[in-house]
Amino acid sequence: MNNLLTKTTLDLSVVIPVYNEVDSLRLLHQAVKTALKDIHQTWEVIYVDDGSHDGSAKLLEEMAQEDPAHIVVVELRRNFGQTTAIAAGIDHAIGDVIVFLDADLQNDPADIPMILEKLNEGYDVVSGWRKDREDNALTRNLPSHMANWLISNVTGVHLHDYGCTLKAYRREVITGFKLYGEMHRFIPVYANSVGAKILEVPVRHHARKFGKSKYGLERTIKVVLDLIAVQFLTRSANKPIYLFGGGGIVLIAASLLGVLFLTIRKFFMQIDILTSPIFIMAMLAAMTGFQAILMGLIAELLVRTYHESQQKPTYTVRKVIREQAKQGSEEK
Ligand code: UDP
Ligand code: MG
Repeated sequence: MNNLLTKTTLDLSVVIPVYNEVDSLRLLHQAVKTALKDIHQTWEVIYVDDGSHDGSAKLLEEMAQEDPAHIVVVELRRNFGQTTAIAAGIDHAIGDVIVFLDADLQNDPADIPMILEKLNEGYDVVSGWRKDREDNALTRNLPSHMANWLISNVTGVHLHDYGCTLKAYRREVITGFKLYGEMHRFIPVYANSVGAKILEVPVRHHARKFGKSKYGLERTIKVVLDLIAVQFLTRSANKPIYLFGGGGIVLIAASLLGVLFLTIRKFFMQIDILTSPIFIMAMLAAMTGFQAILMGLIAELLVRTYHESQQKPTYTVRKVIREQAKQGSEEK
């Protein structure tokens, strides 16, 4: 289990990563409180202070004293980045449902009740989509469009807005997944791989009022690399030999075809085999192919260590129905 606390005792946990957002926090908490006033559910807000140096942590402590029934503060020792802050929040959350939110008031807490309603219609993930996004068109919205297109097509999980933090999850579909790098945006892909039902809904988005964004264009590269890793982890991590071995076999087959072609050509046209560039390429392909298969075998060993040392099952269960056993025990 991913969580420090395995028992859930609340209906809802709102997880908010905070890095130098001192001017927004009070307004934010007020907005969350107003939004959740009438939902008839028990809830908490987990503010994860990600090593802020503008006094956010101190303010959060004050706020926790003022509203102890709802506020949990997790202070990280230094700045670990948004993804890690979110992971810390999940670990401390005790709600059945977990909602993520940014601290800078760009997401609107007033959307939470609508998102919860959708979740109750039978979804496991409700993903916010900043339809009218209030960020710089060229440096933020355009790369984001391209990234969403790419992620949707590679993973087959079609969302307009992976980058929107405002998303709600049932706890079962996100535990067991460790977050690294910039990976929080890929949680829907993971949830999909364990069989979650996902819905996307448009949400409000506001321009940043206080402080400034922590990100620029460089994030796009990290996102692309994370995409490759997530794709591998969700698709092939159980059977790496299929990926590596498959590639290896294709390479070896190509190499054999090349050699066959060279032999036939030598036979009919007397053209030398060894001096041909095709020969060099065929040898390279064969060597790389063998290496790939060997890597696949090593990866198979790693997978076994991974699942068996942690006793992690290779499947996820929605529920088990065993009527017979129940009747049997009643008869006794
Ligand atoms: N954040 C964080 N740690 C970081 C960077 C950002 O916890 O190292 C938080 C930040 O306080 C905000 C959220 O992550 O609540 C999103 O950050 P930001 O608004 O800068 O991203 P943008 O909306 O510009 O994509
Ligand atoms: Mg923001």
